[in-house]
Amino acid sequence: MPQKANVKLYLFQLGMLQPLGVPIPGYLIQTIDKHNVMVDSGLPYEFIKNPPGPMGPAQLQVEVHEEDHIVNRLATIGLHPDDIDFLIVTHFDADHAGNLSLFTKAELVVQLEHYEVSLAGYPRSQRAREHWDRPDLHYRQVEGDITLLPGIELIKTSGHVPGHQSVLVRLPNSGPVLLAIDAVPTAAMMDAETRTIMSNDDDESQTRASTRKLAEIAEREGVKLIIHGHDADQWPTLKHSPQFYD
Ligand SMILES: [Zn+2]
Repeated sequence: MPQKANVKLYLFQLGMLQPLGVPIPGYLIQTIDKHNVMVDSGLPYEFIKNPPGPMGPAQLQVEVHEEDHIVNRLATIGLHPDDIDFLIVTHFDADHAGNLSLFTKAELVVQLEHYEVSLAGYPRSQRAREHWDRPDLHYRQVEGDITLLPGIELIKTSGHVPGHQSVLVRLPNSGPVLLAIDAVPTAAMMDAETRTIMSNDDDESQTRASTRKLAEIAEREGVKLIIHGHDADQWPTLKHSPQFYD
């Protein structure tokens, strides 16, 4: 009997930007050999009680509830931060790296370029620095496109920030799924030539080049689902944890 591959992809809602319903997502990939691989950790916990002022290019209001906290999202599927083996950090913006300090047992995987510019004072990354620059965190810096584990590929997609990364996950039934993250935050931005460049995209030509790179990978790999980083229209159409893609 062929054994059914048991890879699962969970999508967590870790907060919202209102009134537009723009999601702040995180992801968990459970591999066939039971590795737990997270992607991003959401907004800092303190934002639940003390929401910051309006955020991002559209100046939206942060809305985070207790249930949105990554620890509580993990608990609903029976996991604790200490169960996470790898945490793919796509970049150090506060809506992606806000709870890294909870993951002291995990290996945090970041692009070398992003880590280095952030450490050297890249302004964007300083806002959440207390969450990512800590002696008790264990980093693995990677360079460019690499396979992290069989079926999990990291794709360097600079532009939004230097050394941003996206993730390709190969699932047994759904096929390859692309987590574009903030390289292409909405489906409407998939066309490299015509897409909107957000005011918080650091480098326009790199942003367009990374958009083109992801479109080419999606085409070449036969990706049927591209999950965008902050897409208010797409998010309600996706399966959220405790449901999963397999
Ligand atoms: Zn973001």
